[in-house]
Amino acid sequence: MDRVLEVKNLNKSYSRFALKDVSFSLPEGCITGFIGINGAGKTTTLRSILGLAEGVTGSIRFFGMDMKRNEKQIKNRIGVVLDGDCFYEDLSLEEMKKILAPAYSSWCEQDYRSYLERFSLNPKEKIKNLSKGMKIKYSLALALSHKPELLIMDEPTSGLDPLFRSQLLDLLRDYMEKGGKGVFFSTHITSDLDKIADVLIMIDQGHIVFQEDKDELLDRYRIVKGSKEDLNKEVRSLLFHIQETAFGFTAMTSHISQIQKLLPNVLLERPTVEDIMLSHTKGGMKNAAEFS
Ligand code: ATP
Repeated sequence: MDRVLEVKNLNKSYSRFALKDVSFSLPEGCITGFIGINGAGKTTTLRSILGLAEGVTGSIRFFGMDMKRNEKQIKNRIGVVLDGDCFYEDLSLEEMKKILAPAYSSWCEQDYRSYLERFSLNPKEKIKNLSKGMKIKYSLALALSHKPELLIMDEPTSGLDPLFRSQLLDLLRDYMEKGGKGVFFSTHITSDLDKIADVLIMIDQGHIVFQEDKDELLDRYRIVKGSKEDLNKEVRSLLFHIQETAFGFTAMTSHISQIQKLLPNVLLERPTVEDIMLSHTKGGMKNAAEFS
């Protein structure tokens, strides 16, 4: 399978935080969710791969091309929606678009107008008068109007109401169906990814924890709910992220058949993406061997 993005040994340091040898790749034709709790390093990773951060080392290749040597060509082929304002607030949507559109060789004015209409955005409105959600919609309209082959978004659903979040997921499905080669989006609202992601990449404390097919990942783990007496030494060794109460425990396991054999009466539940993320976050981990 072709890779639309390949990142190897990415390093970037701030005074109290560092990305450490971050490596991952995005397969073509997939929606990839980039997950991790607040401060895990999602935005820093996205800004680093897009050439928006200083002092970044490592290899970043989009569509097989080196980012440092082909930045202009690559940026023409990707659509970006970043958290935070990247616009001149005093301009209208139309004025800002006139500045940005000429940078893209494949800009499609017709698509732009239809996205503004779909998102109920008035081109004469000043950017400073847009709500947070409206700004994200505007960013998305700009990003999609130059027919990008890869769409990269940082927390696009945070601050959006459930209706728009659901419209956004439909939009992403449409985009992929029309021949988009990939979507990469960071979020801590993992319920959106339960619905739409093909692949998940998790980051925690600046390290990549895993990159896996979402369905395979969810199939591989189970939440175990049992009583205190069930929690002997052998059972404990098969569990991680164990949370004990006065009466029982909840934990995660990847040793599903062994647990079923040892504890035929306990309840095993399929996890959500959020359960997987929280159980793989350091500090939530009680059995480090599971992640080695
Ligand atoms: P969130 O979900 O809250 O957006 P995140 O996973 O995107 O979090 P980052 O924004 O990448 O996390 O931040 C990772 C760490 O890097 C945080 O501890 C943050 O304080 C730190 N950091 C980010 N930008 C800077 C900066 N410009 N200078 C110093 N530290 C920074």
